[in-house]
Amino acid sequence: MEMFKFTRASDVPQAVQLGARSTTAQQGAEVRFVAGGTTLLDLMKLDVERPTQVVDINRLPLDKVERLPDGGLKIGALVRNADLAHHPLVKSEYAVLSQALLSGASAQLRNMATTGGNLLQRTRCMYFRNDAMPCNKREPGTGCSAIEGDNRTLAILGASKDCIATNPSDMNVALTALEAVIHIQGAKGERDVRISEFFLVPGSTPHRETVLEPGDLITYVTLPAPKAGSKQVYLKLRDRASYEFALASAAIVAEVSNGKFSYVRVALGGVGTKPWRSLEAEKALIGQPVAETSFRKSAEAALHGAHPQSENGFKIELAKRCITHALTLATQTT
Ligand SMILES: Cc1cc2nc3c(=O)[nH]c(=O)nc-3n(C[C@H](O)[C@H](O)[C@H](O)COP(=O)(O)OP(=O)(O)OC[C@H]3O[C@@H](n4cnc5c(N)ncnc54)[C@H](O)[C@@H]3O)c2cc1C
Ligand code: SF4
Repeated sequence: MEMFKFTRASDVPQAVQLGARSTTAQQGAEVRFVAGGTTLLDLMKLDVERPTQVVDINRLPLDKVERLPDGGLKIGALVRNADLAHHPLVKSEYAVLSQALLSGASAQLRNMATTGGNLLQRTRCMYFRNDAMPCNKREPGTGCSAIEGDNRTLAILGASKDCIATNPSDMNVALTALEAVIHIQGAKGERDVRISEFFLVPGSTPHRETVLEPGDLITYVTLPAPKAGSKQVYLKLRDRASYEFALASAAIVAEVSNGKFSYVRVALGGVGTKPWRSLEAEKALIGQPVAETSFRKSAEAALHGAHPQSENGFKIELAKRCITHALTLATQTT
């Protein structure tokens, strides 16, 4: 395996050109960027990822968190998860993001993991991580071992007959509720992609997880200016209190005026094949009073289209309770 290292802003085009030698930016890419390495090296040890060339991007100057002139926030792709979670502007204005980051992994992992790497972390489906088992995501056309296998932790929203894997990230759920934009430097130039359009549902091509093309380097993520006085919560439900992925999670960003919801964003984790924004939950809340009956109706609407597998039907009620409780917590905060 060949290793390349880049250090200056002027090296970015060269890094991109190297990445663009790959035939894909998805599963099976021959060239991979490495940031914190907490996903990539893990999967290389398991023989799930087998790049022939690895491009170390850690020294590129993409590690700043900056206020934008319009009041929004610019987050470099190499900002470590721990630094982002504890950044004063994130803690005070984007609390849902800070909470989501701190609920993920462990302190040691958060010190290494980066914004770009977290966006692109891979599913924890046990069959994906075991190259002795059929898996359409790892090897297209081989079948899905999870559909009739161990699927307790897998998706109930956005699944297909070819793949039911969940997107495991907590950060991505908060970024979805905050309507983040992903900035990409590609072989053909720069482009911006809204997070709602960045991730793909599996359909018949589960090995394609995002809209990224060969050579595409995530350079930074932007957040719109914070809603003044918005109420924000990330609630994560899991099998144990730390160092565990979500069975169900909810990110809420809401504004209340005269006791009614005037603005709300609801995103779910642990239940969808991608970070799941629930427009149905939001529609059910707008103009409604801040009350348990509104929360419950919103939760029912969010899970209306859920399709459970043999072992994960419990997630429907769990996710409903997660949304209801997250809304309760969000609207209790001052
Ligand atoms: C034991 C364990 C527990 C965990 N628990 C949680 C949890 O509870 N919640 C949670 O959300 N996460 C959890 N994680 C996942 C962790 O958050 C991710 O592994 C981490 O965020 C990935 O970031 P990284 O910088 O290390 O990525 P890397 O491993 O460096 O990269 C990941 C992928 O992204 C690509 N990449 C990286 N940066 C860029 C870029 N700028 N542009 C284009 N491509 C890029 C790489 O090529 C690679 O394909 C856990 C991980 C472990 C190992
Ligand atoms: S759910 Fe997806 S990742 Fe898991 S075995 Fe099936 S195809 Fe592979």
